[in-house]
Amino acid sequence: MDSYFIIDSHCDTIGLIADKGLSVFQQEKCHVTLEGLKAGRVGLQFFAAFVAPRKNYPYLQRGLKLIDAYYAMLERYEDSFLAITKPDDIDLARQQDKIGTMLTVEGGDILEGELLNLRILYRLGVRAITLTWNYRNEIADGALEKKSKGGLSTFGHEVVNEMNHLGMLIDVSHLSEEGFYSVIEVSKKPVAATHSNAWSIQQHPRNLRDEQIKLLAKIGGIMGINFYPPFLSGQQAGLNDIISHIEYIAGLAGTDVIGFGSDFDGIDETLDEVRGPQDYEKIINALLRLNYSDEDIRKITYKNYIRLLKSVL
Ligand SMILES: [Zn+2]
Repeated sequence: MDSYFIIDSHCDTIGLIADKGLSVFQQEKCHVTLEGLKAGRVGLQFFAAFVAPRKNYPYLQRGLKLIDAYYAMLERYEDSFLAITKPDDIDLARQQDKIGTMLTVEGGDILEGELLNLRILYRLGVRAITLTWNYRNEIADGALEKKSKGGLSTFGHEVVNEMNHLGMLIDVSHLSEEGFYSVIEVSKKPVAATHSNAWSIQQHPRNLRDEQIKLLAKIGGIMGINFYPPFLSGQQAGLNDIISHIEYIAGLAGTDVIGFGSDFDGIDETLDEVRGPQDYEKIINALLRLNYSDEDIRKITYKNYIRLLKSVL
């Protein structure tokens, strides 16, 4: 296959850069490296500023430190990266033979309950927000809040409306099921689960139920396949489990809903065969062996996300 590229909708690399310095962005110290992104033909990498909940730091301040690390990385590697803030930038990056980067925030805790912080984050270049991590925040409940089962709060409604208005991608990964459904009910634009797998293949609370996947497909949303072994399989996970999730979701809801959201550098273990973006080709080759069409592979690798970003940003 010629001239395809990868869009990966989640990695946590800038957390490592913020805490350990830019020197970590080198082979062997991060899952995601410049060489790996080039070798894996990644054309657009989302870089998440993960503002972990239940910490005793000021969340907005923590978020700003991560955003500063993102811009330090862009400045250091300006010959290789181009920041994407609107759909046309993706084409521009391709033309300039650069890797597009998109700044995202994981954890709506960063807003500290203030809509003005959302607007300022947009101006700082943030183009997607994962509304919650696994626990409750001012917006909604996360996937591990098993007892309360809370959907969007009043503030959460306001956040969804304002993100629609600004042109930001709403990320429903990590949300409780109730949160997931209420976001889709309220949002006027399609949403993404940037790094979530299929619950029917691996019964993990972070994975999406069949009904959620079908609804995502119906509204034109996307789920990014997550490469974290415990989300892929209950047994010893391998590359074949990535393929199993893709096969299942494609059979259930079609290929238009599938993307990649590796979760590199946010996970404490990787598959032996897929240790970083340099290994994307192995996944593509596995799909080719299963006779996936050229068009289906292009949808999964980049076309679905291009479609979504054009309709949202
Ligand atoms: Zn995550």
